[in-house]
Amino acid sequence: MENNLNAYWMGFTANRQFKQSPRMFSKSKGMFYYTPENLEVMDSIAGLWCVNAGHCRSKIVNAVQQQVAELDYSPAFQMGHPKAFELANRLTNLLPNNLQHVFYTGSGSESVETALKIALAYHRAKGQGQKTILIGRERAYHGVNFGGMSVGGMVANRKMFANLLGNVDHLPHTHDISKNAFSRGLPSHGMEKADALNDLLSLHDPSTVAAVIVEPISGSAGVLLPPKGYLEKLRAICDQHDILLIFDEVITGFGRLGDSFATNYFGVTPDILTTAKGLTNGTVPMGAVMISDGIYQAFMHGPEHMVELFHGYTFSGHPLACAAALASLDVYEEENLFQRQDGIYQYWEDAMHSMMNLPYVIDIRNLGLIGAIELEPVAGSPGKRAFQAFLNAYEAGLLIRTTGDTIAFSPPLIIEKQHIDRLVETVSKVLKHLT
Ligand code: PMP
Repeated sequence: MENNLNAYWMGFTANRQFKQSPRMFSKSKGMFYYTPENLEVMDSIAGLWCVNAGHCRSKIVNAVQQQVAELDYSPAFQMGHPKAFELANRLTNLLPNNLQHVFYTGSGSESVETALKIALAYHRAKGQGQKTILIGRERAYHGVNFGGMSVGGMVANRKMFANLLGNVDHLPHTHDISKNAFSRGLPSHGMEKADALNDLLSLHDPSTVAAVIVEPISGSAGVLLPPKGYLEKLRAICDQHDILLIFDEVITGFGRLGDSFATNYFGVTPDILTTAKGLTNGTVPMGAVMISDGIYQAFMHGPEHMVELFHGYTFSGHPLACAAALASLDVYEEENLFQRQDGIYQYWEDAMHSMMNLPYVIDIRNLGLIGAIELEPVAGSPGKRAFQAFLNAYEAGLLIRTTGDTIAFSPPLIIEKQHIDRLVETVSKVLKHLT
């Protein structure tokens, strides 16, 4: 029987367009996907910023297979299993000393909700229940749940849903191609945008503000890099007013920038850090929130038989996810994928910027193994040109991601020079034929 394609309502997808000519993958290996017709499509986005060690890595496959046969599920409340503790220790070892505790979730969105709830509960636990305001940023993406959507600032993701969280405000975004176009690495201009936090604090009174949440690099809004000095400034202002700083590292975690986490790359330590995606190399859904010791200890009072935090998920610390994450960390470490030493980051930067004279290109951005090409939008039809580029690239055997009029690249961290050459060649052809 032929499948009715409308039975599956796909998320973040132009369903009517897709169902006229569906794009399917049935296999993957290393840098590549394969369609049911066995056409090879090179993956320039690591699935969705998650398959950092490349597809179907045998060590991870074996670990998951073994785990499902050994311990398939273990209750997440009042019971534990050894791999969940082992993983928490492995993760905290990768992070600055301050971040010593891990809370497991099932996704990036759940990590963000968890982080926001812990921030609010922390202030209450400290007797500062008036600290309830959460500050996010314009053009931020923090997942799709109500908290993340509310602190997020992508207009399209919010405007359909009337009931957002109250007590939320937003900083301005830092993207400014009038000053920073074609910067290599971090943009030089715009650090003063962090001063807007002081303005919001005067407006609300700092004693009412619980937390500031930012993506060190925003991905979903089109790869927006923080101006030099910006994150440091946010940290200093938060410290001054006893406000928690949350880094959403769902895309920047696990090697994307050429270091394990953005917090290490930038040398700025948040109080709470959210992750997901690369944690299990995309194989089993899992997220994790890393929490400072000061926050954890604020909850460790009261009678010993009492639950300290009324929050958690049935699938928190799922054995399959823990096994997948431990094997992923092994692969990342064995192959030194967080900090490659073979000049790949420079090769990537040069390759990205070699595309600056292609038609419609108005900006190119890069950092670590992230790249973005911003295209001039078609008047009155934002996103249309980039979407056409996505379709044409797919036909030419390259999976890219577009968000608005930006093409975003975040390849598996195993990418080699010949793959980068192939990417540039295909994207160049695609852009030359765009209208
Ligand atoms: N935060 C950030 C910064 C993200 O990029 C994403 C996903 N792209 C999320 C949260 C949400 O993650 P998930 O889709 O796993 O819920």
